Amino acid sequence: MAKEKNKYNSTMNLPKTGFPMRAGLAKSEPKRLEAWNENHVYEQVLKKNEGHEKFVLHDGPPYANGPIHIGHAMNKIAKDMINRYQMMQGKEVVYVPGWDCHGQPIEHKVEEKLGTAKFNATPTSEIREMCHEFAVENIELQKAGFRRLGVLGDWDNPYLTLYHVHDAADIEVFKAMFDKGMIYRGRKPVHWCKHCHTALAEAEIEYADEVSPSVFVRFELIDVPEALAASGMPVDVVIWTTTPWTLPANSGVALSADADYVAVEAQGRLGIMAKALWEKVFHEIAHLEDASLFTPAGASEPWCVHGEDLVGITYKQPIFEGVTGKIVTADYVTLEDGTGCVHTAPGHGVDDYYTGMRCDLPIIMPVDDDGKFYVGDEYGTGGPFSGLDTDEANPKIIAWLDERGTLLAEKKIKHSYPHCWRCKNPTIFRATDQWFVSMDETGLREQALEQVRNNVRWYPERAANRIGAMVEGRPDWCISRQRNWGVPIPSYTCADCGEKVMNDDTLDAVIKLFHEKGSDAWFTDAPEDYLGDACVCPKCGGHHLKADRDILDVWWDSGVSWKAVCEGREELKYPADVYLEGSDQHRGWFQSSLLTSVGANGIAPYKAVVSQGFTLDGQGRKMSKSLGNVIDPNKVCDEMGADIIRLWVSSVDTSTDVAIDHEILARTSDAYRRFRNIFRFLLGELEGQFDPETEAVPFDELLPLDKLMLARLTQVQAEVDEAYAAYEFNRVYRVLYDFVVTELSNVYLDALKDRLYCEKPGSLPRRSAQTVTAELLSMLLRDLQPILAYTCDEVMTYAPAGCRDHQTYAALLDWYHSPISLEVANEYRPVLEAALELRGVVTKALEEARADGTFTKSQQTRVVATVPAEAYALLTGDKACDLAEFYIVSEVELHEGEDYDVVVEAAHGECCDRCWNYREDTGVHGEHEHICARCAEALAE
Ligand SMILES: [Zn+2]
Ligand SMILES: [Zn+2]
Ligand SMILES: [Zn+2]
Repeated sequence: MAKEKNKYNSTMNLPKTGFPMRAGLAKSEPKRLEAWNENHVYEQVLKKNEGHEKFVLHDGPPYANGPIHIGHAMNKIAKDMINRYQMMQGKEVVYVPGWDCHGQPIEHKVEEKLGTAKFNATPTSEIREMCHEFAVENIELQKAGFRRLGVLGDWDNPYLTLYHVHDAADIEVFKAMFDKGMIYRGRKPVHWCKHCHTALAEAEIEYADEVSPSVFVRFELIDVPEALAASGMPVDVVIWTTTPWTLPANSGVALSADADYVAVEAQGRLGIMAKALWEKVFHEIAHLEDASLFTPAGASEPWCVHGEDLVGITYKQPIFEGVTGKIVTADYVTLEDGTGCVHTAPGHGVDDYYTGMRCDLPIIMPVDDDGKFYVGDEYGTGGPFSGLDTDEANPKIIAWLDERGTLLAEKKIKHSYPHCWRCKNPTIFRATDQWFVSMDETGLREQALEQVRNNVRWYPERAANRIGAMVEGRPDWCISRQRNWGVPIPSYTCADCGEKVMNDDTLDAVIKLFHEKGSDAWFTDAPEDYLGDACVCPKCGGHHLKADRDILDVWWDSGVSWKAVCEGREELKYPADVYLEGSDQHRGWFQSSLLTSVGANGIAPYKAVVSQGFTLDGQGRKMSKSLGNVIDPNKVCDEMGADIIRLWVSSVDTSTDVAIDHEILARTSDAYRRFRNIFRFLLGELEGQFDPETEAVPFDELLPLDKLMLARLTQVQAEVDEAYAAYEFNRVYRVLYDFVVTELSNVYLDALKDRLYCEKPGSLPRRSAQTVTAELLSMLLRDLQPILAYTCDEVMTYAPAGCRDHQTYAALLDWYHSPISLEVANEYRPVLEAALELRGVVTKALEEARADGTFTKSQQTRVVATVPAEAYALLTGDKACDLAEFYIVSEVELHEGEDYDVVVEAAHGECCDRCWNYREDTGVHGEHEHICARCAEALAE
């Protein structure tokens, strides 16, 4: 439709709507949000769907420290899209947002605030109070951010892992697993941070390069192989280590069973080591150029044996006189580095620990919580290095070995070494008494894997392999931490005999205590006051039980939310329908939830898991202040509006890492305008002009072109539905965007304008067009509601009541269903496809004619088209539409032929002054000149 001035404008049905072209989201959204809150929209949705099937997306609790970031925003918006979709399906969707409140990061913030000296002098109960305050403040900050994004939920009743009910759930699950024999106390090397004084889980470890002293040390053999004894020289096994401070805890040397070992003669001694490495070690590193392989008298070849031949040989412990160590084999010994003889300290390494257990080596651990050697002379203390810090001890031990002539060589090496995630210092391995969940003792690993593989749907599917591999390969779960801010492990020590006390009676009493007073009571109340009859040592019968101080791993806390929340709250259900979080939670929350739920009840806590990638900048980099590439969701809300972030979330493939920067947001904003414009167009034809409930035309009576479009809409709707159900938001976005831009705006709605603007109001052609327009509005309003929550709500204000279920708020809509079935719709597909194929040829021919200057407007043309037989049949059959209207030309003359061909000619007839169409019936009609018959009829009204 041309925009030139037309004296008949006032006689036409030009678009009319109050829906503004400019969005002004930053200003309008907060007002809309206020209205949602004041009118309890979330509760209204619940009321609408009350008693229907429940749908529970269980919220993974973000950590309550600091304002929200774009990763949070993506997470919560994705959840909201799922919930809003399910709400429209009529399900009872209860969304309880949560926060993870305990743990080291918050305690660390408090420590920073107080300073370490003051922190250490402050009683636990006061520290916990400060941590509590910090968490609650941050929760309010984050909550405001999440609500501003348009996320619907029970924001007034969230779940906090610091609630009493959650504290109690921690112990309830603990008890269930303890009773099954899954929880044990064991001495085992764990990553230990001597700065933070705590054991660290694998998930709390970061690897970074570190320079370490690498030493080659001779351990003198006690039992010498016969062939070597004959030499009369002392014989050593030559070991290699990058942690000299672990030598006081040495109790074995591990060899590779199948590798060749030789004896190297140098400095009047023989050193046994791997054949493959001896020249490198003696010649290149120790610079003993005259070192050579020892050949026993009478032998023709140098002495050489397999590692397994040396098993059981004893040697003198390198630090403690009178203590012996033993040679063993282990399959992790390689010949890539070192000497092929691995110093083994079962108290200071996981591999070493298992070797020690297997070969009966003592597990020695002479280092205290601060990383200092215990004082004493005995094996098991620091001996000559008593009281030294492990880092201080390194050079002292090297010098000490050198003085005694057992240090063969030393050099510095750079290697990847575990560091504490919190304080960034290198960690040490330290065997301490810790609480563990056994993965295999009662078959937890197998059961969990069974659930992962057969009882949970993973989106994307590959996520199943990822968590499966992690569960398959993980060690026992160390669940104790030596910190203040968490839920205590409910164990006691008998003050009379030192026995650890924990049983059903004490556990029940603790559960009761936590329900009543929360876990703070553990640190303030005396056990005899709440344990009652359970306050007794089963070993000595004493009644003096002291509460132990270890707390539970924070992953346990959040992991048992299925118990405290899904099972604990009547309005929810367990197992939940879906968990959705970032892919790092395969290691974290997905796993701790799985293990505690399978451990306690034998089933996964979720039926489906959606895993999402991370948010990166436009160039694929992590966001950081120093790079200046941080996108702050609060700021984007204030400047562009939450719907722009929501649209961005829907537009990216969240199953992998996604990009966001200002340029991407600007493009998103352009896409937003396309959706907004389509709403404006549709409203312009409907607002106050059409009542779909009384004026809609039944499908069978629609004009053929309108039938085609309604059929197409039905297909698009089916795909959108499928994509939402599979959590593929970017597919929803893509399908709708393409539909709106390439099919609706550029083709169908453009063709429809003539009928909408020029036909007589109330006439069938116009009603038919409005009927499809109303269906389009109803469909887009619902399909986009989960994404453009604010904008769709704004559309509601202007949409006819029949398009909006007579509701005021978009969240209250029910899902869109086309008036025809997909089967019926599919019958129209070939006709539409043929019409579109010909349209492509016609458009090209028109463009050429326009470029030649033959015509300026398509209305001035008539098209003579040749199409293949099949298309001809479709385009002239019972489902055929008016192609002239579809292509916006005066006439289409169709012929059957070999291939597509189009000739553009001048239109017959004259231009109508009102509708600009060329019609043969244009002329004088009553008082009007240059008017087509159709317009004349409209004017007569
Ligand atoms: Zn640390
Ligand atoms: Zn006792
Ligand atoms: Zn006309």
